[in-house]
Amino acid sequence: MQSEQTIRVHSYESMGTYDGPGLRLVVFLQGCNFRCLYCANPDTLPCRGGTPTPPREILAKAMSEKPFFGKKGGITFSGGEPTLQAAALVPLFRQLKENGIHICLDTNGSIRSKDAEELFALTDLVLLDIKEFCDERHRLLTGQSNSATLETAARLEAAGRPMWLRYVLVPGYSDFREDILALCRHFGDYRMVERVEILPYHTFGVHKYAALGQPYALDGVKENTPEQIEAARSLFAEYFPEVRVNR
Ligand code: SF4
Repeated sequence: MQSEQTIRVHSYESMGTYDGPGLRLVVFLQGCNFRCLYCANPDTLPCRGGTPTPPREILAKAMSEKPFFGKKGGITFSGGEPTLQAAALVPLFRQLKENGIHICLDTNGSIRSKDAEELFALTDLVLLDIKEFCDERHRLLTGQSNSATLETAARLEAAGRPMWLRYVLVPGYSDFREDILALCRHFGDYRMVERVEILPYHTFGVHKYAALGQPYALDGVKENTPEQIEAARSLFAEYFPEVRVNR
């Protein structure tokens, strides 16, 4: 390993089936620049924290689990926002690739830097989280504009990097028909979008806010009804060949 830089890891999930194809080792990294109102992992948000981990430890863990990955699986970096640690991740990604491990990067796509560009170039499949297409509602939901995310999507498309778009469907915040339609029209002719994943809104992380002594901003927002999920799914399905509801 060329770099001595450690990587701040929040936690691991082995045999994950939720974040990318096949069975995966999911590495949740510490630190995020967004503040999504529904974030299910508020403990990953502060950049200070997590466990400083030598990249070789993550490589060794991935190698030990490689026999379970099969043809489709591999490693996924999630968070938090992994690209905040792009400089430390680049040498690790190189080593993972040299060892034939498929890499997914679950990202909000908002970090624009040379290191982040390099990281995307080493990634086999980008799981790009689009939080909202309307910038005003995006700012309300995340505290940030969506412009950098949309630019990242355009760059990935131009560079021929495969991506799945991930969309959290929050009642009253990101389930507006006109916004989903605008998103569909924007991305409808992207060749590199292999799949759209709808992530229904859930409240699994609410107890973490209580544990942190923080208020939960979406208190009272109910999980999606089957009808709301189907309405979004059928809208996306008009524009994209593959749409999955990822629960
Ligand atoms: S981008 Fe992800 S980790 Fe960051 S605040 Fe939003 S949901 Fe949480």
